Amino acid sequence: MKAQHGIYLDGAWRPAASQDEIEVVDPADGQVIARVPAGGAEDIDTAVRAARAALPAWAATPPAERAARLTALRDALVARKDEIAETVTAELGSPLPFSQAVHAAVPLAVAGSYAELAATHSFEERVGNSTVFHEPIGVVAAITPWNYPLHQIVAKVAPALAAGCTVVLKPAEDTPLTAQLFAEAVHEAGVPAGVFNLVTGLGPVAGQALAEHPGVDLVSFTGSTAVGRQIAATAGAAVKKVALELGGKSANVILPGADLAKAVNVGVANVMANSGQTCSAWTRMLVHRDHYDEAVELAAAAAAKYGDRIGPVVSAGQQARVRGYIEQGIAEGARLVAGGPESPRERGFFVAPTVFADVTPQMTIAQEEIFGPVLSILRYEDEEDALRIANGTVYGLAGAVWAGEEAEAVAFARRMDTGQVDINGGRFNPLAPFGGYKQSGVGRELGAHGLAEYLQTKSLQF
Ligand code: NAP
Ligand code: MG
Repeated sequence: MKAQHGIYLDGAWRPAASQDEIEVVDPADGQVIARVPAGGAEDIDTAVRAARAALPAWAATPPAERAARLTALRDALVARKDEIAETVTAELGSPLPFSQAVHAAVPLAVAGSYAELAATHSFEERVGNSTVFHEPIGVVAAITPWNYPLHQIVAKVAPALAAGCTVVLKPAEDTPLTAQLFAEAVHEAGVPAGVFNLVTGLGPVAGQALAEHPGVDLVSFTGSTAVGRQIAATAGAAVKKVALELGGKSANVILPGADLAKAVNVGVANVMANSGQTCSAWTRMLVHRDHYDEAVELAAAAAAKYGDRIGPVVSAGQQARVRGYIEQGIAEGARLVAGGPESPRERGFFVAPTVFADVTPQMTIAQEEIFGPVLSILRYEDEEDALRIANGTVYGLAGAVWAGEEAEAVAFARRMDTGQVDINGGRFNPLAPFGGYKQSGVGRELGAHGLAEYLQTKSLQF
């Protein structure tokens, strides 16, 4: 795989001050495919200074010009979409068709949406005798995970640039090559030097140095709740704004009148996509006791059919973690109806598509985020019971409701403590605000709500 041997700083690829390296591994076979710099505190400091120096001019750029740069960025990503898909497959392991249809394609829609928003958003409003200006919040630290490596970068960098902010990005150590392709696209798009900077590196080194840097105004983090909590504490002490997109344990609630086969099949596909490494995956399926046995049978068959089409999980560590959860599910008395802890292949970090029945709400596999291809099916007695179970975790990122009547599904969804609910299989909308209730996060990404995270208001009275 092609890799840059530097970090993208102040408009050019430059050698990192740190001599450390990250080995990028193909999870399908465990082989090292590239090496990139593991930047340190000095590299982060240089990058933040570059972003700060570039801020006044970029913040003063007319929104139409920022829109033009974002359109050019979208076009540069379009030109690289095949390379992006191949790179995501190489370092994340998702099957190529999924990389093409999702990992490469969704960011194009998001980048395009921010090109349009930059051009059309009203950065100024009248409120009584005041004029309120929506001004960029400043220098943004973007820290992203590996599971949707390009989407998570674009969902932060595009609105930041649209708002007039400058950015330092620290991508996940497992997927730095996709981040490098993104930096190349930013460069091609003619974004001025220093407005966007990329430092590849390790979370506790480069990530922490970035989150703690006094030159940063907003830390936008996507990743685990454990690290998010730490980042929020550090930022809180410095009175710095944070946006956190964290974990999930979403419920797929199948009400008695629903099309059971459709709800179960779509639900299984939702969990198995990207090998279960989706923060908003509906990893708990809730089924009424009258339909429970039939749903379990359908889910087991659907998971078995998935079999060989599933990719590996991202790393050996992630594979061990997911297998540990499967063993714990068995130990706590859940009934394994598909898959299991044994790796289905000799090479690579594969986990079999796994389904548990007879899962009770307090079991570890019903409470903790597994981040692998593991579905838990829970039984409920009535709607109130279903609601208690659905809301009974610390998370609240997403969910689904299926019912015979749409209004019935909507009424149930309105009572769920969660930021996103798909009604009878509603499709992902890249313009709708995405983010968590409870410990799934703070703030929203995507669309106009995502743009607002990067703006602060100034009121002038007349
Ligand atoms: P993670 O360990 O929290 O890592 C996320 C990012 O933070 C990575 O770039 C990581 O660097 C960095 N990091 C790690 N420790 C840090 C520290 N002490 N200070 C600053 N940065 C640090 O999460 P992950 O395992 O990569 O991703 C999986 C998790 O992300 C899951 O819990 C999932 O639900 C969540 N997620 C949430 C969303 C959402 O939108 N809500 C989306 C995707 C994923 P390294 O790569 O070097 O560790
Ligand atoms: Mg890797």
